[in-house]
Amino acid sequence: MKDPALNGSLQIPSLKPKPADISGVENLIRTMLKKHKTPFMLIRKSVLEKQFTRFTKAFPEVTPYYAIKANPHPKIVKTFAELGASFDVASAAEMKSVLKHDVAPSRIIFANTIKSKEDLITARRRGVKLMTFDNEAELYKIAENFPKAHVICRIKVANRGSVVQLSLKFGAEPDQAFYLLRKAKSLGLVPKGVSFHVGSQSTNVENYLQALELTANIFREARENDMPLKIVDIGGGFPIQHFENEIGINFERMAAQIRKQMKALFSKQTEFIAEPGRFFAGPAGILVTQVIGRAFRDNQNFYYLNDGVYQDFSGMVFDHCKYEFKTLRRGPKYKSTLAGPTCDSLDILSNGEELPELYAGDVVYAKSIGAYSSASAVSNFNGFEPAKIILV
Ligand SMILES: *Cc1c(COP(=O)(O)O)cnc(C)c1O
Repeated sequence: MKDPALNGSLQIPSLKPKPADISGVENLIRTMLKKHKTPFMLIRKSVLEKQFTRFTKAFPEVTPYYAIKANPHPKIVKTFAELGASFDVASAAEMKSVLKHDVAPSRIIFANTIKSKEDLITARRRGVKLMTFDNEAELYKIAENFPKAHVICRIKVANRGSVVQLSLKFGAEPDQAFYLLRKAKSLGLVPKGVSFHVGSQSTNVENYLQALELTANIFREARENDMPLKIVDIGGGFPIQHFENEIGINFERMAAQIRKQMKALFSKQTEFIAEPGRFFAGPAGILVTQVIGRAFRDNQNFYYLNDGVYQDFSGMVFDHCKYEFKTLRRGPKYKSTLAGPTCDSLDILSNGEELPELYAGDVVYAKSIGAYSSASAVSNFNGFEPAKIILV
C-alpha cells in the first residue's frame, strides 16, 4: 500500500548537475517532480507511438493485437486504439476495458486458452468471436457457451532463451492440433488457424522460425483434409532493451527473418496476426522513486526507496526482469543495495548496484519499465480479481 503521508514528507532534491549531464529524460523527471509526488510512472506517448510504428513497419503484413496484460492503463489502451491496433485480452474484465474505447469486437482476440464459462458468455454477448484454445475439454466448454465461435489452436513451441517460459503452461502438442481443430468443427465451431507464444522477451529468433514451420505443417495437413485454415497468430515475445548498453537485441533484424519465413511457408491468402505486449508498452515507461532512508550494513550503503517489488518493481518477481537503476545525483560510485519500503526481506531490488552516495529525497529511476510493472503490482492482474474477504 502506498502511504501518501510518507510520500508527502519527501523533499525534492535541488541538485544542479552540469548542463551537459542533463538528458531529455532527466529534464522531464525534474519537471514532473515539481507537480507530482513520487513514486510515479511516466508513460511517454511518443514512445508508445514509436513502438507501434516500428512494429507495423517491420511487419507490414501482420496485424498487431496489443496484449493489454503488459499494461492495461486506460490511456495506453486508448492510444493504441486510436493508432488502429487490435487487442489481445485474457479475461472478460480486460475485454470490457478495451470495448470501452470504441474498439469493434472484431478487433479483439480472447487469447487465454482457458476461459471461464462466465467469460465465454460475456464474449458471446459482446460479439468477441475469435479465441484460442489448446485442449479438447475447452472446446466442449466453448461449444456449449459460445456456439459458432471462431477458434485458433495454440500449440506448444520451443521457448529457448526466453525470459518467461510460457510453454510450461500452455499449448497443445503440435501433432494434435489438426485433430483438435477438426474436433472443433464437428462441435459446430469455426476452425480458423494456429497460434503460438515463444515465451516473453525472446531474443532467440529460432523459436519463431521453428514455430512457423510447425504451424505450416498443420496448415498443410488441414488443407489436404479439406479444412483450409486462414490465421497464423505469431503471439508475443518480441524483446526490448532494458539496459542501455545491452547487446544482442535487434527487433528489426529478427522481424526480417520471421517475415522471410512467413513468406516462404504460407500462401498469400494467409492472415497474420501478433500479440505484442512488452514491445508496445515496455520502452515507454519511466519509474521515478525517491530514497526514504538509508543504513549501512554488510559494509554497504542500503538505500530504501518508496517503491518496491510489491508495487511497481513487481516485474522483478513475476517477470524475472532486471532494471538499470539511475540517479539524478552524480558523484563517485560505491557498491550499494537498493530496497523497497515494505517490511519483507524479499523486497530488495539490487545487491550490487554501483551508485553515488545518496540521501533521503534523492531520486532513483528506471527506464523501459512500462510493461509487467504497475500491471502486476495490482491485485487484479490480467483482469482476475482475488478472493473477497468474508468475516464469519
Ligand atoms: C502475455 C501474452 C502476450 C504478450 O507477450 P509479450 O511477451 O509481452 O509480447 C501475448 N499473448 C499471450 C497469449 C500472452 O499470454
